[in-house]
Amino acid sequence: MAGLILRQIAKTFGETRVLRGISLDIADGEFVSLVGPSGCGKSTLLRIIAGLEAQSSGEVLIGGEDVTGVRASDRNLSMVFQSYALYPHLTVGENIAVPLRMRQLTAAQRLPVIGSLMPGARARGREIAGAVSEAARTLDIDGLLERKPGQLSGGQRQRVALGRALVREPAAFLLDEPLSNLDAKLRVHTRAEIAELHRQLRATFVYVTHDQVEAMTMSDRIAVMMGGEILQCAAPGVVYDDPEDLRVAEFIGSPK
Ligand code: ADP
Ligand code: MG
Repeated sequence: MAGLILRQIAKTFGETRVLRGISLDIADGEFVSLVGPSGCGKSTLLRIIAGLEAQSSGEVLIGGEDVTGVRASDRNLSMVFQSYALYPHLTVGENIAVPLRMRQLTAAQRLPVIGSLMPGARARGREIAGAVSEAARTLDIDGLLERKPGQLSGGQRQRVALGRALVREPAAFLLDEPLSNLDAKLRVHTRAEIAELHRQLRATFVYVTHDQVEAMTMSDRIAVMMGGEILQCAAPGVVYDDPEDLRVAEFIGSPK
C-alpha cells in the first residue's frame, strides 16, 4: 500500500528549529490537508516528503519503505508548486511530457547506446504523446498543447502543472498552495476539480493551504500545524466542533 508515514520529522535551518517532531500516518488514497499560518513549516514538511529537502532527523516511509536518501525523482510522488514552475521556452505539451522524458533519458543513460537508437524508442515516443493527450483531456487543456506558458492565464498554467504531475501516475500528489495565485472564482472552480481528480484517481493527496475553508471542503482529515508542530489531525467536522487546543479553535474559526 502506498500510504505515507512520517515519524518524528525534525528540521533545523542553522539555529532555527522549523519542524519539531512531526508524526503522521496518511492512508493510501486519503486526502489530508496541512493547514496553519504562514511560516509554520508546511512547505518545508512537504519538500521533505518529496525529497527536495533533507530532514535533520526522523523518517519518511512511502508504501512502508523508508525513503531517506532516495532521490526525489525516484519517490513515486508528484509535487505541484504555488508558482507552477513551468518551463517558459517549452510548449504546454512539452512541459507535461517532461517527467516522462526524464524517465526515458535516465533509462537511456544507463545503457551504453544513444537513447534515440534504443530499440523501442519510437514506440516510447508515441506512448508519451498518448499519456500527454490523456492528461490534457482530463484537465480540459487539450486545445492548448502547442502554446507556451506565457500565452496562458493563471488558471490554465495551474492545469498544465497538474497535468505534469498527473502523467507520472504517482502514488501520491503533494500540492503546495496550488490555488493561491488564482482569483476567488477560479479558486473555487479549481478546488472542485482537484477534489474530482482525487475521486477519480484514488491516489493519496497531501494538500498544503493557509485557507482553512478550502481545507474543510476538500479533505478526509486536516492537520493543523503551528510553530513546527501538528496540534491536531482529524476529520474537518471534528477539528471544527471539537478543537483540542485554543490555537486550533482560533485558526479554524470554531465557535467559542
Ligand atoms: P510555510 O510554508 O508554512 O509558510 P515554510 O516551511 O516555508 O512555512 O517556512 C517555515 C520556516 O522555515 C520559516 O520561518 C522560514 O523562514 C524558514 N525557512 C524555510 N526554508 C528555509 C531555508 N532554506 N533556510 C532558512 N530558513 C528557511
Ligand atoms: Mg509555504
